[in-house]
Amino acid sequence: MNASFENVVDVASKVAHGVASKHAAACDEHAAWPEETLRALQAAGAGGLVVPERYGGLGHGLSGLLRVCDRLGEVDASAALCFGMHCVGTACVAAKASPSQAEEFLRPIAEGKHLTTLALSEPGSGSHFYLPQARLEKTEEGYVVTGSKCFVTNGGHADSYVVSVVAADPDAPPGHFSMLVVPADSAGIRWGQPWSGWGMRGNASRSLDLDSVGVSREHLLGDEGEQIWYVFNAVAPYFLVAMAGTYLGLARRAMSEAVEHLKGRSYTHTGGALAEVEVLQHRTGELWAQYQRTRQLCLWAAEAGDAGAPDALPALCSAKAEVATAAVNIVNECMTLVGGSAYRDGSVLTRLLRDARAAHVMSPTTDILYTWTGRALLDIPILSG
Ligand SMILES: Cc1cc2nc3c(=O)[nH]c(=O)nc-3n(C[C@H](O)[C@H](O)[C@H](O)COP(=O)(O)OP(=O)(O)OC[C@H]3O[C@@H](n4cnc5c(N)ncnc54)[C@H](O)[C@@H]3O)c2cc1C
Repeated sequence: MNASFENVVDVASKVAHGVASKHAAACDEHAAWPEETLRALQAAGAGGLVVPERYGGLGHGLSGLLRVCDRLGEVDASAALCFGMHCVGTACVAAKASPSQAEEFLRPIAEGKHLTTLALSEPGSGSHFYLPQARLEKTEEGYVVTGSKCFVTNGGHADSYVVSVVAADPDAPPGHFSMLVVPADSAGIRWGQPWSGWGMRGNASRSLDLDSVGVSREHLLGDEGEQIWYVFNAVAPYFLVAMAGTYLGLARRAMSEAVEHLKGRSYTHTGGALAEVEVLQHRTGELWAQYQRTRQLCLWAAEAGDAGAPDALPALCSAKAEVATAAVNIVNECMTLVGGSAYRDGSVLTRLLRDARAAHVMSPTTDILYTWTGRALLDIPILSG
């Protein structure tokens, strides 16, 4: 029996409100990686959220990850993203783990001693993250990887990096992409400048150069040439629900900031609260409806993904696209509802708006996701065109 949703949500809530809440503003101000929150999640046993129970993990899937990121996202979206990317990387390792990969990565992850993350995006192919140009050469001992990755969440803090590569061998078939897990202490790993973003400032999203990094054959995930399988069976589903949860939590937080303000702010000239103004009641209702319908789509999509339902892919794609749109709109509108005090430097809503905006550009991006959704419905290959 895996830990119930209630248990993991409870753990995430305690860490969110007991730890993340104390550090979120400072992590944002100083673009600092949310060390305390990530370590508290590991200490509470959540590091192994998506590790199968046979390796000591909690055995959760998409629905569990959605709920945990939702609780974290309510308090600190950067920390939710960092934890979410750890879980996406974990799901990639777990998908076809060899016995040695289970011992080297999954058990330590479940014990809260190992953090992993995903390093797929590259400057050359941008949001088309499934088209790596980092090259994989075979050697007597294993492999050598050479290339550049960008926007690596948890960059420089994780213990391993799940990377995608293309075969350097000119005889390899076109698109012969593979996935590897690269230990952080491998020789030839070089990090770029510390991350300084407009939003998601705590996620340490750094550039990574892989300069002839030697990787053992044991660190290949699945078989050579299987990257696209990983993209659709591990990367996309887990990433999409991690993002959906993060931004649902963020949107709910924005709404609660606005509702508290409307209830608490009253005018001296009338003595009435803002909450009594009918147009503001109407706007609050519209935002709540957008939040709830998006939430239901996300919950249903995660369930469809866990069940392997035929419409899981368009469900998950549209869930992340819709949640990005909803989060940006809801925070933006909540800023209007709260008025001048929301616009002040350092207000929670300004951080939420900056963080929300990243949802559209984290790939698969909103535009790409609607296209993928349409292609799935029209029986057109997802990566065509
Ligand atoms: C905060 C943050 C954290 C991130 N974390 C990670 C991480 O942990 N791991 C990782 O691998 N990557 C990560 N990324 C990278 C991210 O997933 C994208 O790869 C990156 O943002 C793409 O940026 P770009 O400017 O190169 O986009 P471009 O590819 O230049 O795209 C620019 C715009 O054009 C649109 N566009 C491009 N092609 C199409 C098309 N065919 N149809 C419709 N629209 C299209 C895109 O949707 C986008 O809106 C992160 C990014 C951010 C901002």
